[in-house]
Amino acid sequence: MNYTEKTKLIQTRAAALLEAGEVSYVLGWGATRFADKTRARFARSPEEAATLVYNEHCTQSLAKYLVDDRWPETRIAILARGCESRAINRMIRDNQIRRENLLILGLPCEGTDAERCRSCRAHDPVVYDELLWEPNSTGAAAAAELSRYYRADAVDALSAAEKKAYWDDVYARCIRCYACRNACPVCSCRECFVDMHRTGFQGKRHSATDNQTFGVTRAFHVGDRCIECGECERACPMGLPILAQTQKILKEIEALAGDYEQGLDAAQDNYLGAFDLDDKDDFM
Ligand code: SF4
Ligand code: SF4
Repeated sequence: MNYTEKTKLIQTRAAALLEAGEVSYVLGWGATRFADKTRARFARSPEEAATLVYNEHCTQSLAKYLVDDRWPETRIAILARGCESRAINRMIRDNQIRRENLLILGLPCEGTDAERCRSCRAHDPVVYDELLWEPNSTGAAAAAELSRYYRADAVDALSAAEKKAYWDDVYARCIRCYACRNACPVCSCRECFVDMHRTGFQGKRHSATDNQTFGVTRAFHVGDRCIECGECERACPMGLPILAQTQKILKEIEALAGDYEQGLDAAQDNYLGAFDLDDKDDFM
């Protein structure tokens, strides 16, 4: 099935759901004035359903929008590939959204123009109500061009002095726009520590130290819940390789605890957030 046929299928199903009043809107992608770019599109009527598109330029993950509408009047339909479905599972686990509010239209994915798709291991949705076409026959892990931890591996290969120079250079270029935080589906606190101006955590001046404080804190807040969607990097206007930070945390957890991937189901704990009352705290 080609993209034109998939787009038609999405439009037809979305129009039927809206016509029947089963959902408030269908969250998908729409065209822009650039042929190689799409954007999030909220289709609220059968006529608007005809403006949904699906192609290799659908690089944006849609899941983060769900936290902006936590109490919908009727269910929301969302188009979900592997990355959106893993984000949905994690957001349910974090009590940010409710499964019963969602109608998940699963889209087995072949990858997009986005860099993150080159190391994706979960092209097919892991949770859905309806699958709109057959799962990806090429298989996800087998199709990945890059290793799972490719960014973290590259930084790990550096000496301590080279690592410092690397991250100093990255955070000298950060403009602290917080796009990485805003795009991340697992970064969902209602009030973020960097917005607490009265406590003086973060000033407005350009400061490499403040930039690094933000970057490292962000990585630790989301690291063990990261579903590796790459939205942080995609959204960064400075093109900074910040996925390496959460990849590093995931890589270290996997070395300690064995296989570790987030978002595969909605009951999954996160490693740094779990505790055991019988923990002897020998390290304290
Ligand atoms: S999106 Fe990029 S430039 Fe903006 S705060 Fe995050 S790392 Fe810095
Ligand atoms: S930290 Fe980046 S890769 Fe991980 S869930 Fe957030 S946006 Fe996705």
